[in-house]
Amino acid sequence: MIPLRIGRLSLRIHVVLALIAGGLALLGGDLWLRYLLLVGTLFMHELAHAAVALALGDKQAVVSLWPWGGVAHVEAFGDIREAVVALAAPAANLAVAAGFALAGARFDLMLGQCPLRDFVFTANLLMGVGNLVPLPFLDGGRAFRILRKA
Ligand SMILES: [Zn+2]
Repeated sequence: MIPLRIGRLSLRIHVVLALIAGGLALLGGDLWLRYLLLVGTLFMHELAHAAVALALGDKQAVVSLWPWGGVAHVEAFGDIREAVVALAAPAANLAVAAGFALAGARFDLMLGQCPLRDFVFTANLLMGVGNLVPLPFLDGGRAFRILRKA
């Protein structure tokens, strides 16, 4: 793990992420770029959890990224703030997807159709919607558990 610290935010990024991207680059094509865009989407998701938790009073937050996923370690407030932290990341994904959808027609006119733009849109849409499903291990489940008690 590569540790980085920015104020109250700690980042832990597994070095195998770079090795996988490098290996995919050796295969040719844009698979390595799609992998990095997917990791970037996941990173943005976890960063949204951490940023909102810090804004709501967490003393520190840790974002860990592995080749198989990521997690934001934040305090469990046990109240409405926890639901806000849980919903912040899917909302960020959906905002990025909406931005790419709204800007898509303009980009297509200026630059021609871009499959990587569609990839980022789809990754963010799926990550946003998928995490809103109210299952216990997903963001939607955490928010549902808190909001049900409120
Ligand atoms: Zn999440």
